[in-house]
Amino acid sequence: MKNILVVGGAGYIGSHTVKHLGQQGYTCIVADNLVYGHREAVQSPFFELADLQNPASLQAIFSKYRIDAVIHFAAYTYVGESVEDPRKYYHNNLVGTINLLDAMLDHGVKKIVFSSSCATYGNPLYTPMDEAHPQKPINPYGQGKLMVETIFADYARAYGLRYMALRYFNAAGCSHDGDLGESHTPETHLIPLVLQAIRGERECIKIFGTDYDTPDGTCQRDYIHVEDLALAHQLALEKLDSLSGYINLGTGIKTSVKEIISAAERVTGKPCPVQIAPRRPGDPAILFAAQGKAQQLLGWQPRYTHIDDIIRTAWQWECHKKF
Ligand code: UDP
Repeated sequence: MKNILVVGGAGYIGSHTVKHLGQQGYTCIVADNLVYGHREAVQSPFFELADLQNPASLQAIFSKYRIDAVIHFAAYTYVGESVEDPRKYYHNNLVGTINLLDAMLDHGVKKIVFSSSCATYGNPLYTPMDEAHPQKPINPYGQGKLMVETIFADYARAYGLRYMALRYFNAAGCSHDGDLGESHTPETHLIPLVLQAIRGERECIKIFGTDYDTPDGTCQRDYIHVEDLALAHQLALEKLDSLSGYINLGTGIKTSVKEIISAAERVTGKPCPVQIAPRRPGDPAILFAAQGKAQQLLGWQPRYTHIDDIIRTAWQWECHKKF
């Protein structure tokens, strides 16, 4: 298994995975519509401008290259927008994935690793959340990811599809050598926003709610380094012959919004201007992963287990962004 089609390989997690797979001797064919992705982020000589909503553009790629397996990152990821414009999300994230599966099956490609999300669980009934936690998404973004997981299970039974849905918690950090990073427009994620506030590029960071039932009143999340995610994709890919299903990817460590801000101040040596704001609708107080299954089945363990180390890589990127 050598030639991997990475759909959405110009995006944040996709580009880090392409870089990692290249270092491991894989050939990545990157397909991206560049709506949110960055051409400069693609560290592979093989790039195809393609859109999941254009089945012909997908079919053409499978005709042009001999693809052994697919990693699928291409998705819109703004949860709030998915509530306001669900049509956009279901067309791209759901119909687009069906189109991709059509092209795969038409060309005899039966292996896929997929970016799923802890958003498929909805509000936590208990934490840490293991893979047996009921899946009751609370927005169209999470709903679409769950529907894709359901389709995979049906296609596995009917067509012999081999799949691994990786349910990420909060992806964070940037390439340790500083040449890839997180560049979203608009940016909504906590760590880049905090660092941009510290750099004076934003007035302040708004803390969305200080009255949660957590030790310091702010939400706790499980931040996982993007290079740890990239490694997990490689391991999942290599296990597809014997494994098919779904796995959480998190560190099992919870960090609050206030702890992120303190860590960022520690790492950068600079103060972060802060404003207390109301809760953001749809934010559960605590989300963190039980990550035993990833360790047991993939032999995967996060290497970044200290939030300062994650933030350090993000800071390096914020100070020397290339795109
Ligand atoms: N958050 C915040 N201010 C911001 C952005 C995020 O307080 O400007 C909080 C948010 O409420 C959540 C955590 O930071 O508890 C992580 O949010 P992010 O959007 O990075 O990821 P999410 O958990 O929504 O996937």
